[in-house]
Amino acid sequence: MIIVMEPGANEDQIQKVAKKLESLDFKIVFNRGEIMTVLAAIGDKRLIDPASLASMDGVREVKLIQEPFKLSGRESKSEDTVIDLGNGVKIGGKNSPVVMAGPCSVEKEIDGLLEVAYAAKDSGAQVLRGGAFKPRTSPYDFQGMEEIGLKYLAEAREKTGLLIATEVMDTPDIDLISEYADILQVGTRNMHNYKLLKALGKTNKPVILKRGLASSIREFLLAAEYIMYGGNPNVILCERGVKGLDSHYTRNILDLAAIPVIKKYSHLPVIVDPSHATGRRYLIEPMSKAALASGAHGLMIEVHHDPDNAYSDGAQSLNPAQFKSLMKQIKALEGILTN
Ligand code: PEP
Ligand code: MN
Repeated sequence: MIIVMEPGANEDQIQKVAKKLESLDFKIVFNRGEIMTVLAAIGDKRLIDPASLASMDGVREVKLIQEPFKLSGRESKSEDTVIDLGNGVKIGGKNSPVVMAGPCSVEKEIDGLLEVAYAAKDSGAQVLRGGAFKPRTSPYDFQGMEEIGLKYLAEAREKTGLLIATEVMDTPDIDLISEYADILQVGTRNMHNYKLLKALGKTNKPVILKRGLASSIREFLLAAEYIMYGGNPNVILCERGVKGLDSHYTRNILDLAAIPVIKKYSHLPVIVDPSHATGRRYLIEPMSKAALASGAHGLMIEVHHDPDNAYSDGAQSLNPAQFKSLMKQIKALEGILTN
């Protein structure tokens, strides 16, 4: 249920409404906009008469939510969510697209990571991405540098001023990773790990939630709902392709239509990862452009100092020069899209 307060409603009136609902075991999420406050109340709506709620002082309107996305959906919040990632970088709404770039894995030597970080910064990226805990299909593949990788990322942030984003694979790792990272990433394999999502709801870090490899948009938004219901409103959705028929030519199917669909039903920022979506380096540029033309709020792109020798995902990684050229094209496209 959504309770829209009058623009002039005072704190006392807002609290009275919240207390009444809380006394009936509703959980309240406050959405304090510049003009008015909106309360999302989650609980058993049979326990309350909406008309009596609507007649309380300061209440403008009581709406029942039709969609299952009580917190991530537009019904509870019509304006776009803008998330402050740090360093003045904002994602969502009308802000310029945020570009996150970096290697699939943080590797044994820090030099390659630093080379990519300087190049990413120089080309205009705002976030350095790199995996220290790697979810690999085979247990025999490189599993990540773990805390050493986090330290390398922190050093790269120190040297370049870039924000850092890295994946959290398991709930017990959240505290450690949060000590280092500005942004936490949930990988495709964990989109349905509801315990992890609930635990991320208790952090205050922005979370990039990647779409499950065979998940519907509805399941995707409901996974975001878990994080938000836990108390963390800072969720960035990431479309990274879903399993298709033809892995010979593309690793996954990039669902570009998901972007306008998500923007219609949800206020959360949505970004695209063309690297994992396609698995092919030459497809990153056209799909990056298509993602931005489709309304994406940002991109996540794998960039490696020496893709042919990358520990993981080299075939879908750009080298620094290719990334620079992509960024030039993105900037040119941005000019067209905003006009
Ligand atoms: C990654 O970003 O490195 C990654 C493992 O992505 P995904 O979870 O989308 O496969
Ligand atoms: Mn990867």
